[in-house]
Amino acid sequence: MSAAPHPLTLPLLSGNRRALAKAITLSESTRPEHEAQAQTLLSEVLPRAGRSIRVGLTGVPGVGKSTFIEALGVRLADAGHRVAVLAVDPSSARTGGSIMGDKTRMPRLTVHEGAFIRPSPSGGTLGGVARRTREAVTLCEAAGYDVILVETVGVGQSETTVAAMTDLFVLLTLPNAGDELQGIKRGIMELADICVVNKADTNPQAAVRAQTELRTALTLLTPHDAPWRPVALRASALTGEGLDGVWNAVEAYRDAVDLLVKRQGQAAQWFDELLREAAWRAFQSGVDGAQVQALRADVAAGRLTAVQGVSALLDGHTDSD
Ligand code: GDP
Repeated sequence: MSAAPHPLTLPLLSGNRRALAKAITLSESTRPEHEAQAQTLLSEVLPRAGRSIRVGLTGVPGVGKSTFIEALGVRLADAGHRVAVLAVDPSSARTGGSIMGDKTRMPRLTVHEGAFIRPSPSGGTLGGVARRTREAVTLCEAAGYDVILVETVGVGQSETTVAAMTDLFVLLTLPNAGDELQGIKRGIMELADICVVNKADTNPQAAVRAQTELRTALTLLTPHDAPWRPVALRASALTGEGLDGVWNAVEAYRDAVDLLVKRQGQAAQWFDELLREAAWRAFQSGVDGAQVQALRADVAAGRLTAVQGVSALLDGHTDSD
């Protein structure tokens, strides 16, 4: 059966920015009829997605993320790339408005005809924000954007989430490395493919020291047989110094790593995650809440083992029956 394509499909594929913005809004909607339309649209454009480099970017507030993305983005767009900037900011669920990807933070990139900037979807769980951002990546790629920058802030789980949807991950740090290294969670360092000491113009000597310390830390964290050995670089988002070096490293990464295999693995993991969520929802909707509470109380009080409690729900009996 071949139905007419979704009305946004053709304008989106021709690179129309308004169509892209509308398509992302549709995919962010939680109304069931919109969700169904968005899935139709996504499946129609999926064959045209994937032709981009997806770069995740993180760092503590104030490290210079928006300045960096603006400076790098303008350079790339001037050179003929089409650059999309997306954001994953779970805190926007609390504040009701996004602090990330805010257009006023990137004034030159915002008006560049080769760029598209979209703030973080707000509201919902990190999982919900992640799903909508993944879909936005697909839609931007289908609209012809060949560089996708996904920004997140250096807190909590959002780094892992962004690393799971991007080809490589860039960590911005500050020249005062000693303090800085202690502040960076080891988990975030482990995700980084490229570390950049930003604001190197403020204290060049400290920046060199910071770079050396980062290099040592990265060497210790990287397995010997890894296809890519993470690099530590220096840059200044303000003066533009070092930005070419960062982009060269992105290209070197793309050449060194089999991105097709990496993306296949990410997509499979994403499927597993959605399946777990869906299975959990289905289970919750079919289960007797009072029975769950009673069993939980039995386990807490030591009347049942946790395994017996779960078996009682899934099999309808306890092992001691
Ligand atoms: P974000 O919170 O990580 O997005 O950081 P911003 O991009 O908003 O930058 C925070 C402040 O640092 C701003 O005042 C920027 O102008 C400044 N800044 C960013 N990058 C640099 C840099 O490389 N050198 C200097 N001197 N200042 C910078």
